[in-house]
Amino acid sequence: MTRLNGWRPGRDATRRIPTLLGPPRPPAAAPFRPRRVAMLSVHTSPLHQPGTGDAGGMNVYIVELAKRLAAIDIEVEIFTRATSAALPPSVELAPGVLVRHVAAGPYEGLAKENLPAQLCAFTHGVMRTWADHRPDHYDLIHSHYWLSGHVGRLAAHRWGVPLVHTMHTMAKVKNASLAEGDTPEPASRVSGETQVVESAHRLIANTGKEAAELLHHYDADPRRVAVVHPGVNLDRFRPEVATAESGVEAGRMAARARLGLPRDALIPLFVGRIQPLKAPDLLLRAVARLLQERPGLRERIVVPVVGGPSGSGLTEPEGLQKLAACLGISDVVLFHPPVAQDHLTDWYRAASVLVMPSYSESFGLVAVEAQACGTPVIAAEVGGLPVAVRDGVSGVLVPGHQPADYARALSDFADTPMRAARMAEAAVVHARSFGWPSAAAATADVYRAALHDRRPPPCAACPRDVVTSGEGPCLPRLLPSERPVGHSSLDRLLGGA
Ligand code: UDP
Repeated sequence: MTRLNGWRPGRDATRRIPTLLGPPRPPAAAPFRPRRVAMLSVHTSPLHQPGTGDAGGMNVYIVELAKRLAAIDIEVEIFTRATSAALPPSVELAPGVLVRHVAAGPYEGLAKENLPAQLCAFTHGVMRTWADHRPDHYDLIHSHYWLSGHVGRLAAHRWGVPLVHTMHTMAKVKNASLAEGDTPEPASRVSGETQVVESAHRLIANTGKEAAELLHHYDADPRRVAVVHPGVNLDRFRPEVATAESGVEAGRMAARARLGLPRDALIPLFVGRIQPLKAPDLLLRAVARLLQERPGLRERIVVPVVGGPSGSGLTEPEGLQKLAACLGISDVVLFHPPVAQDHLTDWYRAASVLVMPSYSESFGLVAVEAQACGTPVIAAEVGGLPVAVRDGVSGVLVPGHQPADYARALSDFADTPMRAARMAEAAVVHARSFGWPSAAAATADVYRAALHDRRPPPCAACPRDVVTSGEGPCLPRLLPSERPVGHSSLDRLLGGA
């Protein structure tokens, strides 16, 4: 069995493990700090509203990470696909953070599944931007999700810079625990992910469990895998300031009043993208079962579902509403479209408990955000959730996906208000360990390590001085003296892509 600095795959996923699993950090004074990072987010823009479609935790992660890196003097330029002709070529997201819109494929209506066909065009747009600058404009590339990883591996070869990659989700992991009837990820994604894992100088995993999955499913080199827990914005997600002295509970009542929710209700909240993988249906089934067993609760339960259809959930956008009707609980379920994070805080604060019954979750930002607002969590014991939630302390982890088990956990919350209040206080404390400043500092450490021992990524099929795009033909490596390239030579090199 492969060992990661003493940590064994599949074992004790809840244990906090060292941030950096790769080679030791370079000395603090080492000149390996990047000045500017090209961040790649092909399939979803950091400017999109999370909680529906392709926008979710990854968008939030990129925005927050970029801002915090800029705050420690690492400039970030985020490349994303333009989804409207009206978008400007670039937008300043925050001081030191620029979003660049790359034209690649039709603006609207392009499904994620069809994006691989646009990767060449996207890469071309990234290369043109680079060619407009000095050749050393970017010191490092950080790609997010496998589609961006493919662009990143070509650009990293061309620019002679390291590629750091974060998977966010992995096809093999998702396919291993699909919800009933959900569509598996295609084999082409698995092979695409394998190529990105081979090429990246560093892979950032959200948790030790994800690091182990990279090793186990994708044969990643353990020396290149680093674990950095994502952060949450603790300035935004916190119990209500005005009532901090009177405790989390007073803030809860104030938030309920603002949202027009009853003061004394049992409020199990779902927040996230509505798709089978996230299992909002499981919460509804659990509530139906609870009400069957305890009809008296019907008078005082409200179940908000905040978010919009996404992924395979898009095939039946009204599916959850129909299920609620079918289960006879439409009167207690409150569907609400996605809201900006500044408004989400009230939903978290108002809830008795956040329920996250996902089948797969690389981390689960929503769980930590809710806890940061003083709301305990009932979560499935999958993926990163055992790290995000302290079982029995800041929430409850439920093994498996049986509605009866979730109904029991909800029933316990209704019956033990003192325990729920203790968990609410503990949740705030637990969430404090996930601030972005430390997550960004740990990410900068990974960048430093990648710059410290960067080496040309391998191309299995070609001689040393040849690079591959992974999708198209291999190209001769440019010598430093040949750079910078103008647009015309770039067009030639990329075959006019
Ligand atoms: N989110 C939001 N508004 C909503 C619903 C969700 O801003 O109405 C955000 C939420 O704050 C969280 C992210 O979407 O940061 C979801 O991240 P998570 O890791 O829970 O799930 P993912 O989308 O990555 O699967």
